[in-house]
Amino acid sequence: MTENPAAATGSAVAQESKLTSAPGRVAQLSAALEGLTERIAAACRAAGRASDSVRLLPVTKFHPASDIEILYGLGLREFGESREQEASDKVAQLRHLSQIRWEFIGRLQRNKAKHVARWADTVYSVDSDRLASALDSGVHTALEAGERTTPLRVLLQVSLDADPARGGVSDNAMLTLANQVAQSASLQLAGLMAIPPLDADPDAAFERLAHMHDSLLAEHPQARELSAGMSSDLEAAIRHGSTCVRVGTALMGARPITSA
Ligand SMILES: *Cc1c(COP(=O)(O)O)cnc(C)c1O
Repeated sequence: MTENPAAATGSAVAQESKLTSAPGRVAQLSAALEGLTERIAAACRAAGRASDSVRLLPVTKFHPASDIEILYGLGLREFGESREQEASDKVAQLRHLSQIRWEFIGRLQRNKAKHVARWADTVYSVDSDRLASALDSGVHTALEAGERTTPLRVLLQVSLDADPARGGVSDNAMLTLANQVAQSASLQLAGLMAIPPLDADPDAAFERLAHMHDSLLAEHPQARELSAGMSSDLEAAIRHGSTCVRVGTALMGARPITSA
């Protein structure tokens, strides 16, 4: 038998693997995951928070399904994707990973909502009543068809600047949208997500987000999730109460350049 590089570093990977990955990728992802886990733990200590109060959501967009399979072998179960077609393809390729959960974090067009409704455990980017309605009816259909068994967890994406091109519901409209989601039969309001403006001071942006989350919690105490922080600003997000950091580059390496 030939030597399987995956077998040397992770037997779970070797057992489950159906895809081919680049040599050395298991060791690379394993080292990056260890470093990132320590970085999150250090940020929690510095903020006086328990290290299990912040969840890592690995963001795997632009990276191959074989990377997700490796991370699954290293113990991760949830994966964040941001492009519907790419994500739907990966979902189909990775059906053999029985405990995998998919979280959709990107901008979503209403006409794609029914696809995402088939496989997503959580959508992080709901920012309009029309998108919420499209997801609610898509999930209803998927439940009826036996394609899923649970309601869809929904985070509202809020805007921390006034730029409509970047997505996100405004401060003023947040509670109205939250009420709509909370009343939707197939949706479960779970919290807030935001991406700080490019040139903003992350501490100021995340502080503002934390205030918005407090006002949401006052009306909807079950909406505990606060997803903030990415590769470059997760420490600031954790200082301001993030419960879920979404990390791509610091775990996976640079994304390939594309026009998308
Ligand atoms: C790509 C992406 C991330 C991860 O960004 P990194 O800087 O690579 O960690 C997080 N959140 C969203 C919504 C993304 O699209």
